[in-house]
Amino acid sequence: MNIIFMGPPGAGKGTQSDFIIEKYHIPHIATGDMFRAALKNETALGLEAKKYMDAGKLVPDEVTINIVKERLQEDDTKDGFLFDGFPRTIAQAKALDEMLSGMNRNIDLVINIDVPFDTLLKRLSGRRICKSCGASYHVEFNPSKVEGVCDKCGGELYTRSDDNEESARVRLETYTNETKPLIAYYQEKGLYHEVNGLQSVEDVFNDIAKIIEGK
Ligand code: ADP
Ligand code: ADP
Ligand code: ZN
Repeated sequence: MNIIFMGPPGAGKGTQSDFIIEKYHIPHIATGDMFRAALKNETALGLEAKKYMDAGKLVPDEVTINIVKERLQEDDTKDGFLFDGFPRTIAQAKALDEMLSGMNRNIDLVINIDVPFDTLLKRLSGRRICKSCGASYHVEFNPSKVEGVCDKCGGELYTRSDDNEESARVRLETYTNETKPLIAYYQEKGLYHEVNGLQSVEDVFNDIAKIIEGK
């Protein structure tokens, strides 16, 4: 099963991805995580991406499309994958369609987690991420059992440098202008599904599982 998770920053894509990969055993391809890993390793890609990420802007399409193209060459993606945070522009979506058709593959489902903007700002400002495994927590809505420590792996939790109010506002604006048009793009292809992201983490996952299993 080849799935795309779309949804604004803070909608819960990362949180839900953890449940999906555990239940359906498909690899998680999160372009934001790939850029952060490149930055941690101080590669040229990471340093280039940082300029855009800190400002809340999108990394240029050519750069993003290339890392996805490379990732899709890897064997583990053959029996399915979950894209999280890709594509984020119409150009990326078209490039993805081309890549997949060249490999005789296609997207099965697009799932958008819908959450209103005022809630997203609160989710982003209270988000904490595990340094070791990338799990996502929230100081108020989804706290770890021990403050500052990951429940899953014991790793240290940190606040992403782009989860400040200024950058979050720019990211939400970028979402509206550049990513939201993808809804119509995938509706036209008959692939689009939406879940109400204001529910509890468990209820959002139940809705997503119903969509996947109804496919
Ligand atoms: P969020 O969890 O807030 O949705 P991500 O971790 O997915 O954020 O992405 C963080 C940043 O990485 C984005 O603000 C953007 O700068 C960059 N990025 C991630 N995915 C893409 C993409 N598909 N196209 C361009 N830039 C991207
Ligand atoms: P995304 O990957 O879409 O940017 P995350 O999964 O990182 O989003 O979630 C953003 C923040 O919201 C995190 O702090 C997370 O713990 C919290 N969160 C995720 N899902 C829910 C939910 N259903 N209700 C309340 N908070 C949530
Ligand atoms: Zn962890």
